[in-house]
Amino acid sequence: MDFEKAREEMIRYQIKGRGIKDKRVLWAMSMVPREKFVLKENEKEAYLDCPLPLGMGQTISQPYMVALMTQCLTLEGSECILEVGTGSGYQAAILSKLAKMVYTVERLKNLADRAEKIFKELEIKNVKVVGGDGTNGLKEYSPYDGIIVTAGAPEIPQSLISQLKERGRIVIPVGNSFSQDLLLGKKEKGKLKIQNYGGCIFVPLLGKYGW
Ligand code: SAH
Repeated sequence: MDFEKAREEMIRYQIKGRGIKDKRVLWAMSMVPREKFVLKENEKEAYLDCPLPLGMGQTISQPYMVALMTQCLTLEGSECILEVGTGSGYQAAILSKLAKMVYTVERLKNLADRAEKIFKELEIKNVKVVGGDGTNGLKEYSPYDGIIVTAGAPEIPQSLISQLKERGRIVIPVGNSFSQDLLLGKKEKGKLKIQNYGGCIFVPLLGKYGW
């Protein structure tokens, strides 16, 4: 299996082909070996145009969704980012190429441990994995320049809005537990201005301010 070729084709057809233009996002996606983040038995499917199972009912997001959510954050390199829902760690690995520091929270310990191992193996040093309920945010390292939630929420948790810097951006799927809209919120004068990027399907965000 030629993973490099599959990665190039993924970027050409699924990512560029659907209108993702941020050159740094395209570059990051060419740098991260997605095959390391999927389950061993799905390695050959790593670059297909779909989410894949991680076990325990969780999934690694479709590559296009990772690209779109990342592009929404308009990263320049100096940012501190909070991710809620580490899952495989793939989204955090992409962010690690584009921001200064990524804090990622995962409620399932075995997924958090698995992701941490992959970051070590790939020598990704600017991602910190924290176990727990990410709907509370992660006050310790706040405020954040950007927040990305990779599970479907009933609404945007107030805790996350308050841990976002003024002019910061939050990207989060909001809806019911079967389908959501991808929302981008920009914080201006303490309040979010919302843009809707259309329908998407994520596993549910569980926890205090989730389902
Ligand atoms: N970003 C991931 C995909 C995440 S799937 C990737 O790149 O692979 C959603 C993840 O969110 C699951 O691993 C699930 O366990 C986690 N999750 C759900 N609710 C959560 C919560 N309240 N806090 C932290 N993680 C949560």
